[in-house]
Amino acid sequence: MQLGRTRRDFLRSAAGVALSTALMGASPLVRGVRAAKKRKVIVITFGGGARDQETFAPQGQENIPHLLHELIPQSSFFTQVVNQGILGHYVATASLATGVYETLNNFSSLPPEHPTVFEYFRKDLNRPSSDAWVVAPSNGFNRIGESEYRSYGQGLGARVVLPKHLLNAAASGSAADYQHLLRDNYENPLYTPQLAGGEFELQQLQMILKLSVDDFKAHALTVSSPDELSMYIARRLMQQESPSLLWITMHDIDIAHAGAYSLYIDAIQRTDRLCAELWKTVQSEPEYEGNTTLFILPDFGRDADEDSGGNGFQHHRTGDAASRTTWMMALGAGVREGAIYDHPMQSIDLVPTLGAMMGFSPSLAQGRPIKELI
Ligand SMILES: [Zn+2]
Repeated sequence: MQLGRTRRDFLRSAAGVALSTALMGASPLVRGVRAAKKRKVIVITFGGGARDQETFAPQGQENIPHLLHELIPQSSFFTQVVNQGILGHYVATASLATGVYETLNNFSSLPPEHPTVFEYFRKDLNRPSSDAWVVAPSNGFNRIGESEYRSYGQGLGARVVLPKHLLNAAASGSAADYQHLLRDNYENPLYTPQLAGGEFELQQLQMILKLSVDDFKAHALTVSSPDELSMYIARRLMQQESPSLLWITMHDIDIAHAGAYSLYIDAIQRTDRLCAELWKTVQSEPEYEGNTTLFILPDFGRDADEDSGGNGFQHHRTGDAASRTTWMMALGAGVREGAIYDHPMQSIDLVPTLGAMMGFSPSLAQGRPIKELI
């Protein structure tokens, strides 16, 4: 509870966040905006986990100017999102996507055990595979798009694009030029499945993203990180495929495991910027403008400095409150602006909320819809 309350105080003290009327719940819900247009939802996981002292606390606010001054004033902000599951990135992201605390081995190439949000969405609403996409940071996420759950599973999930895998396929022969973008994992044990092929990735590039190998390689040389590459791919997907359900998993912040505080801070600042850029893209794309709800939430936090079992910002091993208690913001179609909610919710509440918003039934999800968003 304490972390949530403190986060609210941090937000209220941040310059430019005008929340007073919304705190009373006075602002009307914007429902049915351009109802004729198909509702779209984009989920960004604010990847890898960042702590309050590097983000929302006064000493961290300089790292997230875009969230604080551009996005949060337009958002409903939930100060206390607790992840009660396993604090590994793949398993935690799978849990976010199924609405069940998954227990699969974080370092294995396994599908989630329970149906994913993509399967509920596509099956219940009879949507084609082009309407649900995941942009994922590492080869270890290649199975995130669909479970093996009987009556869901194969053929009903999201299409998954792995920008690093695309780049690896495109850069064959010159991969050394792209090493800073190809590093797959910041944690030990290093697990990187060797994905087969290359042909499929090049087809994705050319047929779906409408990018030539040369153009893609040239662009990759201009980006600074894997997440920036992911955002580039996400924007191409929005332009070419316009999926109604788009899930973007960021991961740069997890470089904290390497122990370099400055790289961790750089990654937070970059993630902050990329979230705002994605929201700008939403406003400039006719398929998305006015009918899109954006969710931004971390998969989990990182260890507190004072926890003797941890190493502060570097890892997420202790399971302490700082590593489990995160936040979520939602903005855009159907969402109250400038509202802050402190009541505790869980990571697994996301999928039931998306179901209530988009009209599908995540029947096996264990979380609860967030009433302020539906
Ligand atoms: Zn990590």
